[in-house]
Amino acid sequence: MLKALRVRLYPTPEQAHFLRGQFGAVRFVWNKGLYLKRHFYRVKGTNLDPVHDLKKLLAVAKRHPKYAWLKDYDSMALQESLRNLGSAFSRFFKKQAGFPHFKSRRGEQSSYHCTCVSVGEDFIKVPKMDPIKAVIHRQVEGKVKSITLKLDTCGDFFASILYDDGKSNAVKPKAVRVSEVVGFDVGLKSFGTDSNGRKIEAPKAYRRARKRLAKAQRSLSRKQKGSANREKARRRLAKQHRRVARIRKDFLNKVSRKLVNESQALVVETLKIKNMLKNHHLAGAIADASWGEFVRMTEYKAEREGRYVVHVDTYFPSSKTCSQCGYKRDELDLSVRSWTCPKCGAHLDRDVNAAVNLKAEGIRMLRANGLVVLRA
Ligand SMILES: [Zn+2]
Repeated sequence: MLKALRVRLYPTPEQAHFLRGQFGAVRFVWNKGLYLKRHFYRVKGTNLDPVHDLKKLLAVAKRHPKYAWLKDYDSMALQESLRNLGSAFSRFFKKQAGFPHFKSRRGEQSSYHCTCVSVGEDFIKVPKMDPIKAVIHRQVEGKVKSITLKLDTCGDFFASILYDDGKSNAVKPKAVRVSEVVGFDVGLKSFGTDSNGRKIEAPKAYRRARKRLAKAQRSLSRKQKGSANREKARRRLAKQHRRVARIRKDFLNKVSRKLVNESQALVVETLKIKNMLKNHHLAGAIADASWGEFVRMTEYKAEREGRYVVHVDTYFPSSKTCSQCGYKRDELDLSVRSWTCPKCGAHLDRDVNAAVNLKAEGIRMLRANGLVVLRA
């Protein structure tokens, strides 16, 4: 089973300098690859494959004096950059993402290392460098597969360590009880609601941090370009961004952990996040809700624990259907928080009703896939 651990790094000034150079090389390869791919397509109509065609070019380039400096850095990291470019293009062609961007030295930097990597008690080791001092707050029990080095926009270095703990995933049960199936509906007002009627709110600290983030954003926009004050404001903003991201991640980890622990099967809606982001009124709320990140966290936790995650299509009318009698409304405005069913008279909370409907649909799908769902 693969596990990830993120640790803070404390490189020496020389190491920090080398790392910046390495990130630069990785970025250079990405940008050059992107340029060549675009250029060859426009001018010659050739569709270069980043992994096959550009990787060969990289090897050729390194023999040329102009690009010989690339040899100073981990060659696997440079190749990985092209592999990432390849995946970025596949996502683009599958319409899952926009056209790949050129990378800027201002954004977050990273490089990936998968050979000759190791983790010690207070250091990590990657190719072409002496051990880098690190705070390893959790023991790495197993084989280290890769280390991704990062420099965030606040100017701090981190390493994401991926390792295999040698254990296998728990086996999923052949039968589950209806009471162990939980539907979870993503909300706009609260983060989400489960089919047992429990509403989960985003933490107050998160909302407070978001307000401070907005303030830091405004402060930056007032500062003159190129001034020392602007640089200070940019750092403050980056720190606020990092804080918001940390609180959000911590919250999503806790919620997904709780839901996975408390159920055998979790039913969630597949949201078309991209479509919803186009709606400017909802954008903030949806982005905040971080649904995609939450679903990913739920999935890997469920996979480890041997639990099911069922995805219900976005077009399933979870809000518009009465969970008591099955009556279906034609429409339901987003502002309507509760309604009374004209057929059976049940008074329905919008979110709880949706979660209960998701649970029922999830049970139907699990049964259709041959799983025994016991009434109890
Ligand atoms: Zn009804």
